[in-house]
Amino acid sequence: MKSLSILGSTGSIGVSTLDIVASHPERFRVAALTAGNNLELFVRQIKTFSPRLVSVLTEERARQLEGMLPAGARPEIAWGVPGLIAAATAADADLVVAAIVGAAGLVPTAAAIEAGKDVALANKETLVTAGHLIMSRVREKGVNLFPVDSEHSAVFQSLQGHRASDVTRIILTASGGPFLHYPLDKLAQVSVADALNHPNWSMGQKITIDSATMMNKGLEVIEARWLFDVPGERIAVNIHPQSIIHSMVEYTDGCVIAQLGVPDMKAPIAYALTYPERVVTGVKPLDLTDLSGLTFLKPDHFRFPALQLAYRAMSDGESMPAVMNAANEVAVEAFLKGRIGFTDISRAIEKTMDVHQPHSLGSIEEVLMVDRWAREKTREMLGLK
Ligand code: NAD
Ligand code: MG
Repeated sequence: MKSLSILGSTGSIGVSTLDIVASHPERFRVAALTAGNNLELFVRQIKTFSPRLVSVLTEERARQLEGMLPAGARPEIAWGVPGLIAAATAADADLVVAAIVGAAGLVPTAAAIEAGKDVALANKETLVTAGHLIMSRVREKGVNLFPVDSEHSAVFQSLQGHRASDVTRIILTASGGPFLHYPLDKLAQVSVADALNHPNWSMGQKITIDSATMMNKGLEVIEARWLFDVPGERIAVNIHPQSIIHSMVEYTDGCVIAQLGVPDMKAPIAYALTYPERVVTGVKPLDLTDLSGLTFLKPDHFRFPALQLAYRAMSDGESMPAVMNAANEVAVEAFLKGRIGFTDISRAIEKTMDVHQPHSLGSIEEVLMVDRWAREKTREMLGLK
């Protein structure tokens, strides 16, 4: 029996994780759950999975939650960052599912690693902002970091049984999102609804906008660089609009190994929860004869400047990826609120990067400091203060 602590259980990844837990009661129990604002769903999850500990964003929400749960059947209720850390380090959790969105996931994920927990990592922002610090602690603590992101799960699966020294390239696939063929001169005017209309995947709002700008793939290139210890120049991106090949590994002998499947996050989530075993997920098996074709394109950097910004941030290194990530979070939120246009997102990130002098980051606290600086700067540049 594996005991899970799920950070961000009311999100898209959190809900899919609990679906897998519900279909394998003999394998999993839930030690802790954390949520943001969606208390109704959270209450249903608490009643179904009976965690010992739960945490929400604020003390006010915690009081509200308390009132929504029957007395006598209430778990311990915590809140804020201390509550997230308590859930991430819960003594009765074997595996922490890091499924909070954004840099808010960094502190609890780092705490889980410090507490010696294995982590199923969906929160790519943890590795983008603090990859070198996180990976060195993962090694020192001897914990496992299992990728949940579908591309990284595909790479992880394609690496099984092979030697890391034989890898020549990692090739991440990208759907290209809703604007792959959209008229370039109309991109500045697209609506929030257009940008949230992802052709293949159903995900949280932030990552869906990141997919439309292709910043998501940029974040994933940096995530792959840390997870698999492969330098950025050897990580390529292929646009593959059908999202059937989830990513590939190229080896010295010219062979390329890919992982394929219908686009459903339950498959990579389950692999992270049960590695090296595989379990029934309910994901429909792939029948290639049902498909009209698989196509591939090189990314158009003019259309998707955010992807280039991520390669630039990775090559600048040090604090630059954390700055890029924070600027992106501020810009995406401003776009979602209708404060800026779609093409302003990448422009805002670039402007913030242009005024940042990269410096080394020796601790998570220093990462949080540069994150705060970049958020302020981006808000100022966008006139959001
Ligand atoms: P989501 O917005 O659907 O859910 C986020 C969860 O985090 C929710 O439970 C929310 O309440 C909680 N949360 C948000 N802000 C918080 C804060 N400040 N403090 C504490 N909790 C907070 O997001 P998602 O789509 O599930 O994505 C989660 C992570 O997984 C992201 O890092 C994303 O990039 C990654 N990911 C998602 C998918 C996907 O299919 N959704 C695929 C690959 C990777
Ligand atoms: Mg992905």
